[in-house]
Amino acid sequence: MSEEESAKAMEPQRKRWKGSECGSDSWTVYPVLSDEQSQDLALVEAFAAPVLNKKETSRLLRELSSLYPMSGLQHIKRVRTVKGSPHPLEVLLCLVRDAPHMEVLSIDSLLPSGVKHDALGEPFRVKIPARPPLTRPQFEQAGKHWPTSFHEDKQVTVALRGELFTAPQKASMHMHMMSALTAAKAGSELGMDAVGAVVVDPSTEKVIAVGHDCRGDHPLHHAVMVCIDLVARSQAGGSYYFDQYPACTFTPPASDTFQSPPSSLPYICTGYDLYVTREPCIMCAMALVHSRIGRVFYGTASADGALGRKYKIHTQKDLNHHFEVYRGVLGEQCEDLTSKVEVYRKVDY
Ligand SMILES: [Zn+2]
Repeated sequence: MSEEESAKAMEPQRKRWKGSECGSDSWTVYPVLSDEQSQDLALVEAFAAPVLNKKETSRLLRELSSLYPMSGLQHIKRVRTVKGSPHPLEVLLCLVRDAPHMEVLSIDSLLPSGVKHDALGEPFRVKIPARPPLTRPQFEQAGKHWPTSFHEDKQVTVALRGELFTAPQKASMHMHMMSALTAAKAGSELGMDAVGAVVVDPSTEKVIAVGHDCRGDHPLHHAVMVCIDLVARSQAGGSYYFDQYPACTFTPPASDTFQSPPSSLPYICTGYDLYVTREPCIMCAMALVHSRIGRVFYGTASADGALGRKYKIHTQKDLNHHFEVYRGVLGEQCEDLTSKVEVYRKVDY
């Protein structure tokens, strides 16, 4: 078979993979970053001036840095180039808060008589980024005010474009979230809240536990809590039994693992991924911290969500465990599930 023929033969299969059968190209997954990484950069006011004589730039920089060190703003480049200006170099003199009190803004008032400043033009006010940019969007935003240095985390940049995961990885994520959706629907049919969760070991792709909301039995049995307890059960622990719910399952340890000493098992969810249809609440998010989850993927945000919407527990510096959070896996389907339940509730009341 020629290369062209074999490509043609592969075509329907590829279409199926990309199309309805898999559908993992119908959604995009984005990281849930800390506030520091996602909010707009704070700005601080400074005085700058054009450099009239380029040859004097190094001397001016030396003298200005010694006079006004601008400490804490090491990310700021002291000089910028301005395209199309008769004086293409501009230099930062000092922060407005560090400047001496002036009746009228002038270079004489800003620089003491010891500094030779005839190479500088009229000073002006400018806003500069108060802290270093942490992401590419922040870096681009910073550059509109004043140039800064930027230590790029390439993984974050790619993740923010929604391109962190490969097609096979997305196909696997799709499959796991589909299981969570199926569990959510099974729970909903029993009168529970339509939320489902799945814990997976990403190193082997083995599903460790599947759970859904069981609050009909116990007010704390949110889907994530159920799932964590089922993971504990898979490790011969756990506090509850969910055997009456066929959609709540766990994978018992393999026989070789079973014979090993318990210390060889990971601490509950260490290194595992959680797929959950709806953003977890604060109780579930804290349980995920305590169980040492590796990554969390959720479909849709929740008004009381603690991993993005209301709080970002996974980015709290004071906690002793942190994990990555991504949103948007099968977002539309997860959103539909939530909104349908809300419609039912409205009718009920
Ligand atoms: Zn919860």
